[in-house]
Amino acid sequence: MLDYHLPDYHIHTWHCGHAAGQMEEYLAAARQKGITEIGFADHIPMYWLLPEQRDPSLAMQEKELAFYLAEINRLQAKNQDLTLKVGLEVDFIPGREKELAHFLGKYTFDYLIGSVHYLNGWGFDQATQQAAYAGKDPVAVYHQYFGLLKEAALSGFFDIIAHPDLIKKFNYRLAEEPIPLYLETAKAFAQAGVCVEINTAGLRVPAGEIYPSLSFLKVCRQHGVPATVGSDAHQPDQVGYEFKEAVQHLRRAGYHEVALYSKRYQYSHNTGI
Ligand code: ZN
Ligand code: FE
Ligand code: FE
Ligand code: ZN
Repeated sequence: MLDYHLPDYHIHTWHCGHAAGQMEEYLAAARQKGITEIGFADHIPMYWLLPEQRDPSLAMQEKELAFYLAEINRLQAKNQDLTLKVGLEVDFIPGREKELAHFLGKYTFDYLIGSVHYLNGWGFDQATQQAAYAGKDPVAVYHQYFGLLKEAALSGFFDIIAHPDLIKKFNYRLAEEPIPLYLETAKAFAQAGVCVEINTAGLRVPAGEIYPSLSFLKVCRQHGVPATVGSDAHQPDQVGYEFKEAVQHLRRAGYHEVALYSKRYQYSHNTGI
């Protein structure tokens, strides 16, 4: 069992078309690892495309969303020893705010996680779209990525910003860490009142490092940005993935608390770290 208490707020389900296992199996995995609070945050339907253009292997279908929400509530009633939260991982697509507001307005969530997975339609974190890195100016790509991340934070839609240096996923890095971009971004997070997400999935990809990097997380801490933690589990055994590392990361950056959410209200939780 754990000597610290961390909730896992970033868990996917089979509804998105690229995650494995039943929801019950994610609960069982959490229980086994001594994690008492988990939040599902599956990919929102690709609201910026027409329904027939949406790729069912990238996100939930619209008709699945209500079922997904009902399923979490049904499981919460049956599993009183765990606290289950209802979240979504939401792509931020500038210019599509109206469609997004319409979508989100239909349901109630505990929290919404905003993600930048697309730069002008380029799905830069998809293995199949990696070729597009070639020939691009890395400095320009980083500016574009962090610019969108700030915009996502300031959009007012989200409580948490996911994997906030995802652009490093395939080890696409600058000669030096872009501290000025971290500073601007952390300021935007603080101004917007969003949390930074510590996402251990970075340890499972070529980057080999938690999102965000320790220097970015330290800048967030200095600006008073609260943090949440997520494994980005796409299969049950990834629940709480490398949370020992997440604890070290929190500790090194000076965090002793993580944020929790209920119906979009934030409260803080002493982690015992
Ligand atoms: Zn996914
Ligand atoms: Fe993501
Ligand atoms: Fe995710
Ligand atoms: Zn993710």
